[in-house]
Amino acid sequence: MAALSRPCAAWGIDSMDRFRLKWRIFSFLLGFCALLLFVLWIFQTLLLTPMYKAIRIGEIQKAISLVRENIDNSAVLSAILEELDTDKEIIVMLTQEFAPPSTPIERSTFWGGRRVETITQTEEFTLSDGRVISLTFYATISPVDATVSTLQIQLYFVTAIMVILAVFLAILISKKIAKPIEEINTGAKALASGDYNAHFSGHGFLEIKELSDTLNGAAEELSKTESLRRELMANISHDLRTPLALIYSYAEMMHDFPKEISSEQTQTIMDETKRLSSLVNDVLNVSQLEAGMMELNRSVYNLTESIGDTAERIAELVKKDGYNLLFEHEDDVYTEADEVKITQVVYNLLINAIHYSGEEKKIIIRQTETDGFVTIEVSDSGEGIAPEDLPHIWERYYKVDKTHKRAITGTGLGLSIVKKIMDLHGGECGAVSRRGEGSVFWFKLQKQGG
Ligand code: ADP
Repeated sequence: MAALSRPCAAWGIDSMDRFRLKWRIFSFLLGFCALLLFVLWIFQTLLLTPMYKAIRIGEIQKAISLVRENIDNSAVLSAILEELDTDKEIIVMLTQEFAPPSTPIERSTFWGGRRVETITQTEEFTLSDGRVISLTFYATISPVDATVSTLQIQLYFVTAIMVILAVFLAILISKKIAKPIEEINTGAKALASGDYNAHFSGHGFLEIKELSDTLNGAAEELSKTESLRRELMANISHDLRTPLALIYSYAEMMHDFPKEISSEQTQTIMDETKRLSSLVNDVLNVSQLEAGMMELNRSVYNLTESIGDTAERIAELVKKDGYNLLFEHEDDVYTEADEVKITQVVYNLLINAIHYSGEEKKIIIRQTETDGFVTIEVSDSGEGIAPEDLPHIWERYYKVDKTHKRAITGTGLGLSIVKKIMDLHGGECGAVSRRGEGSVFWFKLQKQGG
């Protein structure tokens, strides 16, 4: 019900979001334009005159220091004065009567019968012969009122053009973003309703393309998990039903004919119960590992001794079926790990080797050491694994042979548990196998002190 109601609710939000997205982009762009125009307006109207005057004052200061540097070199000085007049419109006059230095002031001056607005500053200069002269610097300033009104008219045009551009840009961008998002959303809805073949083909921006690639990956993973889940349900229900039926029929027989109870019957009940509990354990283990609930209880222990004990116990159990287990090792190796979990890894690998060892029934456990690490190999001389299956055997619920044999009642979880435990320990594991040539499963851990 929850999965059904979600896409329905999403419809309303989705169309509103598209509407909002367009207007949001538009309002952002418009706000940005308004800010830009405001700054332009401030600079071009209010600040134009003071900035212009400040620049002219700066030019007078520069002219004063230039003149001061060359005050005794009349040839250079006259060239500088001429250049100031023509290039900068700064006129320098010798003050008739000595005038005290002044700060720059704005004033009107008459030149050739024409009233000119200037920034004026008087400065004292001491010549090399000790005389002190006083020069006045006049920098003309043109009236800026006309310029300001021209700029204002221009600003109206710029505002209109920018608003039109903002509208176009908003429509364009929202189309480029909203359309692919809408397509992705349709695909995601299909995915949510269980259509794992949904394909996402996001285009336009890189992020949208990456999003659709991620969703394609997710759809693929979901479809894999879904088919594995179905397979597991089929396997588990088969694996549960068969031993339960056997247990029930033997128990019924024992109930009906209590005097004829044989040890084979009780043995069958015990075997099938064991099979059921190992299946339940596997399923519980994997779900605990997946929920990240399994915590490591690390301690330093003798790995060689621990593996030897496990191998001995299993060898004892399967001896009657003709299995031969060998443990080859040199020195005892210590490691810091969770002994129970590592024993489970060894157990899972050994049980697999026994299940798949074929006619020869020979299993070798080998311990080798390389710079700080210890590797444990479990090899069998069984049927081996085809190259196309080899990369997948560590996945949950993966079984090479999907048809059920009573003798081999795997859940497809054993190796995924091995991998999870090794990941938790920061160790490595792997398999080398060829069809018909047996398999070598290995895991590698850091040695204590190595
Ligand atoms: P299962 O419980 O089915 O054994 P596992 O996760 O332990 O699940 O193994 C996954 C698959 O890998 C098995 O179904 C089997 O086909 C293959 N496999 C594992 N160990 C061996 C082995 N020693 N030799 C051949 N095939 C193996």
